[in-house]
Amino acid sequence: MSQLITLAVPFYNEAATIQIFADTILPALEAVPDTQWEIVCVDDGSTDGTLLKLVALARADSRFRVLEFSRNFGKEAALTAAIDAARGAAVIPIDADLQDPPALIARMVQAWRDGAEVVLARRTDRSSDGMLKRKSAAWFYKLHNRLSKTQIPENVGDFRLIDRAVVEALKQLPERQRFMKGLFAWVGFRTVTLDYTRAPRAAGETKFSGFALWNFALEGLTGFSTVPLKIWTYVGALCALGTLLYAIYIVIVTVMFGSSVPGYASLFVAITFFGSVQLISIGLLGEYIGRIYLETKQRPPYLIRKTYGGDDAA
Ligand code: UDP
Ligand code: MG
Repeated sequence: MSQLITLAVPFYNEAATIQIFADTILPALEAVPDTQWEIVCVDDGSTDGTLLKLVALARADSRFRVLEFSRNFGKEAALTAAIDAARGAAVIPIDADLQDPPALIARMVQAWRDGAEVVLARRTDRSSDGMLKRKSAAWFYKLHNRLSKTQIPENVGDFRLIDRAVVEALKQLPERQRFMKGLFAWVGFRTVTLDYTRAPRAAGETKFSGFALWNFALEGLTGFSTVPLKIWTYVGALCALGTLLYAIYIVIVTVMFGSSVPGYASLFVAITFFGSVQLISIGLLGEYIGRIYLETKQRPPYLIRKTYGGDDAA
């Protein structure tokens, strides 16, 4: 009995890593007993020859299938496309840069065969990531999990194994803004966790700058929690209470000691403080409304220009 399992791999300007990726991943896959593999590679609008190399791979080895995006849609969209296209009884999303160790795949498949529907891979050691990235990631998970009912496990990336049942569940989620970590967590299912050490990138460089990560974090927070929206009611109520107390104090002081020198400083502080509070809360409303706006357009999360390899051979 040999089962088909899909590897879902996003590629964005990974020309430097493709050969290393193929050379490393194939022996690791062949080492897993009783399996057949399909490797769905998504070229996320690369501009560096990634597509040509992927197509060459697909021509030489029928296990590779390539989806070419019409432009760069981002990693979340690329993952979504690969999962949508997967035919396997299980799907394993994995990064192209070999930061997710292929050696773990055999253990994942074993755990899946033992009954798990989701096998998470948790990085125990992230020393290959910079200090700032680690710290900000830790803060993000803490904040997110405090604000949202959907608990995202810390130090778990997209590298995991998901059963066909989970794949079908993910396909039912209609949102266009796809924060995959959150969606994975939202669907639930029977989960086991394996530990591994995160390796440095095999070649090339990271595609996520500081600001991209900040936006990514905002996406995750606003996508899975409305606490940031609701909190302003309480902030407003507290400020109003403070203002009321202050007003009473002023009345008392004025009655007892008569009108003193007008409080220019306190007035100025109060105005700027409330101005900032209002701007922050308006900005926050904007974050949510912007996302509602994008969702209502119902645009597809990605567009495929062409498919290479597999049954859809071009
Ligand atoms: N990636 C993608 N589209 C993008 C950015 C990244 O498909 O717009 C892919 C990239 O090719 C890699 C994976 O997502 O396979 C993870 O990217 P990267 O290694 O740069 O992220 P990091 O590991 O630094 O978080
Ligand atoms: Mg990486």
